[in-house]
Amino acid sequence: MKKLIAGNWKMNGLASSLAEIVALKGLTGSTACDIVVCPPFTLIDRAVDQVEETNISIGAQDCHAKVSGAYTGDVSAEMLADAGARYVIVGHSERRLDHGEDDEIVAAKTAAVHQAGLIAIVCVGETQSERNEGRAIEVVGEQLRGSIPAGATASNTAIAYEPVWAIGTGLVPTLEQIAEVHLSIRRLLVDALGADGRTVRILYGGSVKASNAGEIFSVANVDGALVGGASLKATDFAGIISAAG
Ligand code: PEP
Repeated sequence: MKKLIAGNWKMNGLASSLAEIVALKGLTGSTACDIVVCPPFTLIDRAVDQVEETNISIGAQDCHAKVSGAYTGDVSAEMLADAGARYVIVGHSERRLDHGEDDEIVAAKTAAVHQAGLIAIVCVGETQSERNEGRAIEVVGEQLRGSIPAGATASNTAIAYEPVWAIGTGLVPTLEQIAEVHLSIRRLLVDALGADGRTVRILYGGSVKASNAGEIFSVANVDGALVGGASLKATDFAGIISAAG
């Protein structure tokens, strides 16, 4: 399966940061992976201009579930498509925890992404206390079942397993823990989507960097990565991309 490597810039990036996308083009021209950069909304259309005719796509970090209306400050998936985005991250733990987004909201946003003809990267992951209680597989399964709407396919959806305790902390699960959760996600996807569930890409996210990416990519059912901090600098992000082959 072609790996998908997505960078989430979070609330970082000014016009000057577009130079990182320009540099990334020079560093990743020959990769076989699908590469996505998700800058803040304000940079999306300018970022799109930079990646024409390259293997890099531009994504967004969130969207509203509705197409339009009286939702001050929100951005719809249709607007993102209009700006040239191809992917949208939905259900990131920072949205789930800081903005109270539950599985129902995430499923509605994912459906909106599909409706707009874009690809959803749906995030799931357990907290530290849920892992300590031995509930990681159960929590991730429940989130996944609740967050994937009817109409999800391998072409319009990727899943990102992001243990909350590994995001931005430098902590990474063992390869065995990653393998166990990714296998459980694969089984659930096959149950829910049939044969298509075999080819939905399952990304790992949480403190991925160039030095640990190779071993993470060697784990069964790891089909790419969602990268936060290490996606901000082209050289760091390119190191992860080259580890994916
Ligand atoms: C993320 O925010 O999706 C993420 C994985 O962050 P980091 O790589 O910085 O842990």
